[in-house]
Amino acid sequence: MDAQRKVLIRRTPPDESQMVRRTVQGLFFVLNLWIGAQFYFFVRGVETGSGGWTRPAGVEGWLPIAGMMNTKYFLLTGEVPGVHPAAMFLFAAFLGMSLLLRKAFCGWLCPVGAVSEQLWKLGRDTFGRNFSPPRWIDVPLRGLKYLLFGFFAYAVAGMDAADLRAFLHSPYGVLADVKMLDFFRHLSVTAAIVLTVLVAASVFVRNFWCRYLCPYGALMGIASLLSPLRIRRNAERCIDCAKCARACPAKLPVDTLARVRSAECLGCMECVAACPAEGALAMAAPGGREVRPWVMAAAIAAVFLGVVGFAMVSGYWEGTVPEAVYRRLIPIMAELGHP
Ligand code: SF4
Ligand code: SF4
Repeated sequence: MDAQRKVLIRRTPPDESQMVRRTVQGLFFVLNLWIGAQFYFFVRGVETGSGGWTRPAGVEGWLPIAGMMNTKYFLLTGEVPGVHPAAMFLFAAFLGMSLLLRKAFCGWLCPVGAVSEQLWKLGRDTFGRNFSPPRWIDVPLRGLKYLLFGFFAYAVAGMDAADLRAFLHSPYGVLADVKMLDFFRHLSVTAAIVLTVLVAASVFVRNFWCRYLCPYGALMGIASLLSPLRIRRNAERCIDCAKCARACPAKLPVDTLARVRSAECLGCMECVAACPAEGALAMAAPGGREVRPWVMAAAIAAVFLGVVGFAMVSGYWEGTVPEAVYRRLIPIMAELGHP
């Protein structure tokens, strides 16, 4: 290493990307906890007859398939759907984020991604490392999430506007969020075993669920290929230490690439934070202009708040299903089959 390169090694000022990202991640996690608690008390209020809580439309962010269906319904008819419209707006916001800011939804917002990240960091701190399945297993396993996404996309693609409306307006479609809550409230033995295996695997393998199984992440990854942002490495300043590749939760070979174009890149900037060489690695916009972490955070907030704010102000955020329908359907939910 020559003298000039040594001078470049100390980074000033210290990288703040992970502090900014974790703050955004933490705030979104708390928002989801609050929405989850509100929804739980709303359902309990209906079940016990005590009432007192309003159903938070934000819970529909956990209904990505309803989001896909409603987006297609809107594109076919020009009508904002009356059942789970917030699912459509949130789907559009997260997809828009990926188109602009790589998989920023996965790396900066998703609560499942946040938990997953804490689990593999716990594993790394406990065992001194995470484990990587060999490439011949890793590559086909990564394809699973695209297969799962393909299955859902195929099912939605085969539905016309009438089918979509019939599904979403059926009692099953209306109660999709309550059914999801019940999945966790009354966890079956099989589901408990599957969740335990996923949690255990996430401790050993970085982002196990996101890397191999999440169909939503697969869609975000495909959309992120169109994002104008890229992690860029300046080979002139790089000292070939490979710290970026070791830090990358997606296990991308950042140290050997000039630009990271992969659909697996979360836009998390862990690689940038790990890089010790001044100016060697950055999130960059077209033309090579560096995108600072707070600019990423501001852009994520602008897309999210812009879309949700528009839906609220225009009166489309809340669905048209009256509370009386929930009061009628929730007590007979166990009898409702798939339409
Ligand atoms: S390349 Fe960098 S930004 Fe992309 S996933 Fe890896 S660490 Fe995160
Ligand atoms: S870009 Fe990667 S390999 Fe190059 S100096 Fe930075 S961390 Fe080391």
